[in-house]
Amino acid sequence: MRDFSKDHRWLSINTATVRQQHGQEWPLLQILDACARQGIRAVSPWRDQVAAAGLQATSRALRSHGLELSGYCRGGMFTSDDARDGNLRALDEACELGAPCLVLVVGGLPGALNGQALHKDIAGARRQVQDGIAQLLEQARERRMPLALEPLHPMYAADRACINTLEQALDVCDALDPGRSGALGVAVDVYHLWWDPKLQAQIERAGRERLLAFHVCDWLAPTRDLLLDRGMMGDGVIDIPRIRGWVEAQGYAGYSEVEIFSAANWWQRGGDEVLKTCIERHRSAV
Ligand code: ZN
Repeated sequence: MRDFSKDHRWLSINTATVRQQHGQEWPLLQILDACARQGIRAVSPWRDQVAAAGLQATSRALRSHGLELSGYCRGGMFTSDDARDGNLRALDEACELGAPCLVLVVGGLPGALNGQALHKDIAGARRQVQDGIAQLLEQARERRMPLALEPLHPMYAADRACINTLEQALDVCDALDPGRSGALGVAVDVYHLWWDPKLQAQIERAGRERLLAFHVCDWLAPTRDLLLDRGMMGDGVIDIPRIRGWVEAQGYAGYSEVEIFSAANWWQRGGDEVLKTCIERHRSAV
């Protein structure tokens, strides 16, 4: 297992972590400047942030700073009507930005995210998700852009993602890419998966070919908001080094991406302070 205690070479910042400091949107290009100033080598930006900054301007800024991507957030939402076009654009943007993978949050019951689920057939939603991934996979293969399925904690099954365990995600991978070509894999996010008694076994099942991204933050007890109360690494109950050890035992040698949505705490602080804390905790708690 790699030693993270002496530097932050393998730290990536998911740019949602510092997206609205003191309640104000921190523009993506300024976030990239700040990351570069602090010697951070990789980021994972969100599509809306890239759209606001401009795709070409983002691409130029990444190159001029020598910043890599650890992923691109995000495609998916296969149960909504307009998924297909949005996902194709997301693929093209990921290619332009040189992302190693497009992260997919697959969607839940149609309409639920807007407060009005159109039906209660979660098994049907899962079939629709798998069909949508199968279609997108063809375009992704043409572009040589791997797709990373991100299983989300079951509390999001209705509205954001009906793939909720690593086992489920790997079942989809095995069905659609039995040859383990590298075109389809998973994003392991400790926030979503830490509780799963099968986690270690499923990480071993995933193996190197399927492990495309590793996301960290912490689970606060108690959690005050289902979406926007993620903790800084070390402030919660997840044994992050243990899970990283399992992932690295399979040969994963990529970035450890910090992804914290924290409306009441970390989004209320200055962005540079948050980045500094991410660096410290990456060394001490990841
Ligand atoms: Zn994640």
